[in-house]
Amino acid sequence: MIALYRATITWMFLVTMLAFAGVGDGRAQSVHTSADAPASTTKLAEELRQFGDIELIVFKNRAEFLDLVEQRFGSKHTGIPDKLPRSPFTVTGRDGDAHLGTCRVFVPSNITPDTGDEVFARLMHNWFGTRLSYATSAALTYRWLIFHEARHCQPDHFGGDVLKDHRDEVEADLFAHEQLASTSASASATDQNALARDIIAFRIITSALIAGRSHMIGLSVQQKLQTPGTPPTFTAQQEINAFLAARKLVIGRAKTIATAVNPTNRELVRAIIELNSEVDPATTDPQAVLVRMVITALDDAIAHFAPALHQSVATLQSNGSP
Ligand SMILES: [Zn+2]
Repeated sequence: MIALYRATITWMFLVTMLAFAGVGDGRAQSVHTSADAPASTTKLAEELRQFGDIELIVFKNRAEFLDLVEQRFGSKHTGIPDKLPRSPFTVTGRDGDAHLGTCRVFVPSNITPDTGDEVFARLMHNWFGTRLSYATSAALTYRWLIFHEARHCQPDHFGGDVLKDHRDEVEADLFAHEQLASTSASASATDQNALARDIIAFRIITSALIAGRSHMIGLSVQQKLQTPGTPPTFTAQQEINAFLAARKLVIGRAKTIATAVNPTNRELVRAIIELNSEVDPATTDPQAVLVRMVITALDDAIAHFAPALHQSVATLQSNGSP
């Protein structure tokens, strides 16, 4: 998903994650390959084969990941980050000038549905709770993330700069949405819209609060899912700038509200609600318009995933309480 890291050795990390964090406690665990993978992974792995030679691999921790890399790529490698991505990521490789035939999608085991945890909640650092409200379901959003990675296995997603990665990320989101919307047994327009709402809310929040530049794609994804066929009114660089500016505003406001060193989740939500109530509806400055779109979408996204939290903070505010 998110490209904070890219290494070219004889192979490369293609895509990467929200933010790097430990994915395990370092103890060796059994390897979940096709033989002993959880049922959900086995089924997904089969589905991914429709998109090419793709291997889905669940790993417990960095030690296990390194073992898997050595098994598959045959030697030690440098350039592997100390902290692996916390969300699914794709690794492809080169043998001389040729790309390796198999594309590998790696998934940290602690974000698989088998743990009982919700991947979107985890990737949002549990800021809005460990049990979120969805238009679809936690299970479908997990599938969507894995299908997103499968798109990165196509060679046109190999390599590039931040702006290329940004475009690839948007494409992968749309691809995964389209696949799940068109292949689902109950792919009604309502279901497609429901999945779109979950995806947009997720991308807006992660773009605004967590992701690196190449993954600041929330406005693009929103625009393309809500008004397909309409040309974007902003460039990728303008979108990235807007998310950076919005993040600065939100963090700055949350810090002024916070009673401790680090804001609580309620203080963060309050900062966003406050900023959203202050946006200038009359501004026409293009950059300010985009920042306003981000703040408003961010407020909507939190209300989508955490309606009770959002409502309770909003109510306190309207009552004038701290
Ligand atoms: Zn991606």
